[in-house]
Amino acid sequence: MTRDPRYDVLFEPVKIGPVTAKNRFYQVPHCTGSGWERPRTLAGLREIKAEGGWAVVNTEYCSVHPACDDAPHPIASLWDKGDIKSHALMTEKVHAHGALAGVELCIGGARMSNLGTREVALGVTSMPNMAGNPFQTRAMDKADIREVRRWHRNAALRAKEAGFDIAYVYATHGYLLSQFISKAYNTRSDEYGGSMENRIRLTREIIEDTKEAVGDRMAVAVRFSAETNGGYDAGDGNPMPGETREIFEILGELPDLWDININDYSLEMGLSRFVGEAALEPYVASIKSITSKPVVTVGRFTSPDTMVSQIKRGIIDFIGAARPSIADPFLPKKIEEGRLDDIRECIGCNICYMGDGRSVPIRCTQNPTMSEEWRRGWHPEHFPPKESESRVLIVGAGPAGLEAAHGLGKRGYDVMLAEATRELGGRVTLESRLPGLSEWARVRDYRLQQLEKLNNVEVFRESDLSADDVLGVEADHVVTATGSQWRNDGFGSANPTGIAGIDAIDALYTPDDIMAEQIPAGPSVVFDDDHYYMGSVIAELLRARGLPVTLVTPEDTISAWGAYTMDRWRAQTKLMEMGVDLVVGHNLTAFDGRSATLQCEYTDRQKTIGAAAVVLVTARAPNDGLYQALTERMTAGAEGAPRTLKRIGDCEAPAIIAAAIYSGHRYARELDASIDPDNPMKHDRVFFEDG
Ligand code: ADP
Ligand code: SF4
Repeated sequence: MTRDPRYDVLFEPVKIGPVTAKNRFYQVPHCTGSGWERPRTLAGLREIKAEGGWAVVNTEYCSVHPACDDAPHPIASLWDKGDIKSHALMTEKVHAHGALAGVELCIGGARMSNLGTREVALGVTSMPNMAGNPFQTRAMDKADIREVRRWHRNAALRAKEAGFDIAYVYATHGYLLSQFISKAYNTRSDEYGGSMENRIRLTREIIEDTKEAVGDRMAVAVRFSAETNGGYDAGDGNPMPGETREIFEILGELPDLWDININDYSLEMGLSRFVGEAALEPYVASIKSITSKPVVTVGRFTSPDTMVSQIKRGIIDFIGAARPSIADPFLPKKIEEGRLDDIRECIGCNICYMGDGRSVPIRCTQNPTMSEEWRRGWHPEHFPPKESESRVLIVGAGPAGLEAAHGLGKRGYDVMLAEATRELGGRVTLESRLPGLSEWARVRDYRLQQLEKLNNVEVFRESDLSADDVLGVEADHVVTATGSQWRNDGFGSANPTGIAGIDAIDALYTPDDIMAEQIPAGPSVVFDDDHYYMGSVIAELLRARGLPVTLVTPEDTISAWGAYTMDRWRAQTKLMEMGVDLVVGHNLTAFDGRSATLQCEYTDRQKTIGAAAVVLVTARAPNDGLYQALTERMTAGAEGAPRTLKRIGDCEAPAIIAAAIYSGHRYARELDASIDPDNPMKHDRVFFEDG
């Protein structure tokens, strides 16, 4: 297949100062949860993007000095020779595929607390740490400013030695330079504060320092906010809020590239639940009219038509991507080769962002191979060929079963996928009908599209298999992917023995009931002991149907775990705007069909609220009955028994959709493979070399 000429514009080379990107696909800096700790994992991950056709592949934020330490978040660093070696692993691999490697040099300021290094953080003023620690920064004097410039310059030189092609000056997202620029934070009275010219002085100096130090061979990019010192107001006739236009009139031609975003992460990397594709367009639309330098921005771009439109209308020069490049590192190649139906589109769930918050290697709902490129040797597009002529029966076509069928199918096995219902997709199909979650159906759709191309995978709908049915198939391998169901007894973190008698109440619902369109008739309490998205989504659905709704949670905030995916804040705003009552720090201890008893998590004081219905969002029970029955039959020596029986996904251990996909993928890869059970993956270790 060849590329549709409509997309030719995406494959034009673009000059960035002294270097040239081979096309317009630009992987912007994004966190990976690996940072300085796992250099080989990172090199593998970034190499895959380059192999997949991205012309520019950047690191995550990269500290220039130990006084810019974001522990426990695993930031990258360029502090010493060891770091140079670590990064060189990546730049070599990126170059091997003809891509440019960029590094996002970062000076922390009040956003970094230096918990790991215990250095005193430097700030524009003496101000509270923005990560919530009870520390303040030291207000930078002139000597500190000279020092910070020196750190940045030296880090740029180390970046050059590591083989990078692009060095960033990071002047947004609340890090030090953006605080100097900010009218609100910069209250200095010296030549670095006051007027706009003074507030941008340090940024200008650092751009100039970097160009002078490495600009002969490396491009200098500036990451900058399009809403500097002002909120966007589409109605005021001012396309560039705050002082951004004036700043651009001064700095516009200084760097070689502008990487434009906004301060509000919840919009910039918005969840599909709340934010659509190309959401930053109103903010960046006029930047190109005031700089001749190339401009890049993000927008969760997965549609090549949207990409072309962005370029042709002169909004941006590069299609910036973090999440679309995570969900599908081969997005550019697939467009280039005219394989649009092979694109694995990002669903906007932000599970990838969780890796940074929890200090673990990045993972992705759509792409189970992310972070596994090096340690498990997984490639997002290639599976190893089958190692036997086996027939495999997969029971259940939710995300785990679909992914297992996809992987086994691509390996060449003879696969039967049986699904009890007419619909495929399991929980993904059901949940994608909930408010804001429609894009989640992409998890199912990508896999179904792939299965359609595989003659060796047969799908059987409306096939609710019993143990006898399974044994009757006489498959060589059987895997159950039969999912889970929400519990109706209150069992969960806050009520480890459940809520006495609650399952006998008629007006008791679970998310499964709501998804089956069984909707309560009166004022409802949604009890969220799950702490991710489901509680707030159900509350939103019921409120939208006109019911008075109270959302109760034992945590101190709604969607507490959603802080790692950013569900938490926008969900709370939305529920408050819709008029949902929020009761935090309370457990649900009883419900009699008319009123619910809530108990304070701190004082044990109880109160009752009137409720015609309760929806329990607490925990799920694995549907592992078939697996258990088969195990018993196999132990008893049943005829037709498979050589192996396994369970995957929620029927093994209910978890997030990303875990179900991962589990199905792993099963597919590891069938017939010899994996050392004591050492199933390689362990990344940093270079312990200083100086
Ligand atoms: P996971 O997230 O682990 O993939 P899901 O709950 O999304 O799990 O999907 C499980 C799927 O398995 C559902 O579509 C369900 O209808 C199907 N299923 C459950 N039990 C059986 C069975 N005995 N035979 C066939 N399909 C089943
Ligand atoms: Fe997109 Fe979700 Fe994957 Fe992140 S985890 S890249 S948001 S699909």
